[in-house]
Amino acid sequence: MSWSAETVLNSLSSTAQSLLDFAIPPFCPLCRDVLAEPSDLPVCFCHACSVELCGQTGDRCLRCSASVGPFSDTQRGCVHCRSRTLRFRSAVCLGMYSGHLRQALLAAKWSFSSVQIQSLARLLALHTSQQLGAVRVDRIIPIPQHWRQRLWRHFNPAWLTAQQLSDSLGVPCDIHILRKSRRTRPQKRVSVRQRFENQKQSFVVRDAEVIRGQRLLIVDDVLTTGATCSEAAAALLKAGAAECHVAVIARVLDHSA
Ligand SMILES: [Zn+2]
Ligand SMILES: [Zn+2]
Repeated sequence: MSWSAETVLNSLSSTAQSLLDFAIPPFCPLCRDVLAEPSDLPVCFCHACSVELCGQTGDRCLRCSASVGPFSDTQRGCVHCRSRTLRFRSAVCLGMYSGHLRQALLAAKWSFSSVQIQSLARLLALHTSQQLGAVRVDRIIPIPQHWRQRLWRHFNPAWLTAQQLSDSLGVPCDIHILRKSRRTRPQKRVSVRQRFENQKQSFVVRDAEVIRGQRLLIVDDVLTTGATCSEAAAALLKAGAAECHVAVIARVLDHSA
């Protein structure tokens, strides 16, 4: 079930927080229009761009969150995920990785400021609140970066997104449970077929007793083949988690990866 853009924006307005703790630039980073009324939205995008970012409608695969045709039965997946072994049960996203969302996410990830990624995370939280509320997760776990990646990245988009979802859902977020046990090649530089192999046994779980029997929400910025989130889910399930679900800002189809 997806919300209309107008519904999302009404919610945004009603839950708007003070911008004083949120360094909003004076112009929209997508269309460069000056923000005439920045205080009516807790995001850095203008109204029109926010509508675009939340405006992808239509049905989605319950398992991998890819867009599917109307009335599709996706309990066992869709054409994009059915042949894959995915260890998480469901996935939600703000939208498919195209158009405005692709442009916004690329800019956000390479920005020195975390404001854009936080804005996308807020839109994700509002856009998926009903689905995530229905799953009733106990804990939110972001995909970690290897310590060497943290040296040259300004921030981890998955951490910021997870913290925003944590605030919105009122569910604790734990950034210490899951750790990268080894450095993997960037998934973008690995063929789609090799991505599951590249991620194999790349995560370890600390403090397994904390997650035992819990429903977990794994958070990343994008989901492409699902290999990273699936391997993270495998490690968490092995450590005693009851089930894992996934939330990402954008769903990337393999051919556009
Ligand atoms: Zn704009
Ligand atoms: Zn699917």
